[in-house]
Amino acid sequence: MWFRRDLRLADNPALRAAVDSGDEGVVPLFVLDPSLWAPAGPNRRAYLRASLADLGQRLGGWQLRRGDPVDEVVAVARAANASTVHVATDYGPYGRRRDERVLNALAEHGIDLVRTGSPYAVAPGRVTKPDGTPYAVYTPFWRSWNDHGWRQPVGSPQAVDWIRPLKSVDLPAADPISGSLPPAGEAAARRRWRAFLDEGVHNYGADRDRPDLDRTSRMSVHLKWGEIHPRTMLTDLQARRGDSVRTYRQELAWREFYADVLWQRPDSAREYLHQQFANMRYARPDEQLATWAGGHTGFPIVDAGMRQLQSEGWMHNRVRMIVASFLVKDLHVEWQHGARHFLHWLVDGDLASNNHGWQWVAGSGTDAAPYFRVFNPVTQGKKFDPGGDYVRRHVNELSEVEGSAVHEPWTLPDGPPNGYPAPMVDHKQERVEALDRYAEVKKH
Ligand SMILES: Cc1cc2nc3c(=O)[nH]c(=O)nc-3n(C[C@H](O)[C@H](O)[C@H](O)COP(=O)(O)OP(=O)(O)OC[C@H]3O[C@@H](n4cnc5c(N)ncnc54)[C@H](O)[C@@H]3O)c2cc1C
Repeated sequence: MWFRRDLRLADNPALRAAVDSGDEGVVPLFVLDPSLWAPAGPNRRAYLRASLADLGQRLGGWQLRRGDPVDEVVAVARAANASTVHVATDYGPYGRRRDERVLNALAEHGIDLVRTGSPYAVAPGRVTKPDGTPYAVYTPFWRSWNDHGWRQPVGSPQAVDWIRPLKSVDLPAADPISGSLPPAGEAAARRRWRAFLDEGVHNYGADRDRPDLDRTSRMSVHLKWGEIHPRTMLTDLQARRGDSVRTYRQELAWREFYADVLWQRPDSAREYLHQQFANMRYARPDEQLATWAGGHTGFPIVDAGMRQLQSEGWMHNRVRMIVASFLVKDLHVEWQHGARHFLHWLVDGDLASNNHGWQWVAGSGTDAAPYFRVFNPVTQGKKFDPGGDYVRRHVNELSEVEGSAVHEPWTLPDGPPNGYPAPMVDHKQERVEALDRYAEVKKH
């Protein structure tokens, strides 16, 4: 069993297939792939390390290898005298290419690569329009996805004979991180999910846009690493009624929709879904990008988000939208630069959700907010963090500014305190500039 983004025992169809077919034991293989490890920032590395340590303990130890999966998977499979390597299907562009290479290399030795299940309740490509073509917008996708339904979860395998035919490498050393990450692993994912079901889901619809209240589920990290399967969550939600439960299911469906779009259009990970935006005038990604990334723009809600990203490896969804809008529409930097920065720092960094989330904000994606709707960072701050708690939590320099005045520190009698910077741009002017640039490409 070659584990990748499915670091769990329960409801793991590929693992189940491996256990059911392997009379002589199952190898619990994980390959540290330099192509994925190198671009990951310290938060994601530290989290993966913790998640691997957790599952490793329950397996009685990993077969852990480092290197190109083509070499490592073949070497382990041959050493185990295996007839089959089991995996969950990876639908991302890199994973698809990698798995094809591994499949071909295994075939040369008469070994099969068998794909069972996926990180989604409904596999990408499964839900289509009646004429068989893919959905390009979310709402009809959601209806079809919901009608399609999903299989029941499968239980954890019992009494598996885990075998490790080769010497394992050590888990990589922990990178120093600046803040604190959530507890990793399958049990932590279950605990978080249970707590959200008991305390959070019924108010989700009302509170989910409030970063100060922090009432979203925070399941994205566990979903990213497959510490829980989404259909387990959807099955738990089935018995619950109400608008909030429906809203939450719709959010899970966004994750599945974006995976579907990426599957249909792998180029959308880097290229504009709507090509006209490629022709817009953009700023060079210079020190303004670095100021934004470091959380020193002088717009408190933006800086709070960028600092939360680095310290927690996570950012509230509303704030992801605000900071993304600021980079693209106030600084006129192309979304790909911001998306890359996010992927480096986010523990839940996911190519499909991230890059399509960015395109949504940039106006070039599916169901995109129209380009001319430009977020005002002050108004957004006052609306969604009305008492200013979120900003004070993440921007130390402003921790003593009371109430919503924290969103406009330049209006304080003595100006921004503790060296907090003045706004790096005039939002009103940059809004007009953004609209001018948009009007230029719209004409063509
Ligand atoms: C610019 C930008 C970048 C983003 N990058 C990522 C990313 O790399 N990884 C990621 O998982 N999500 C990403 N999102 C989506 C969303 O912000 C996060 O999923 C959410 O903030 C995670 O917190 P939560 O688990 O508490 O969410 P909840 O509000 O509790 O939602 C439950 C689950 O639904 C899914 N979900 C919710 N909103 C979205 C959405 N807009 N798109 C896709 N799935 C969604 C997630 O799996 C989430 O865990 C991004 C959004 C934007 C605007």
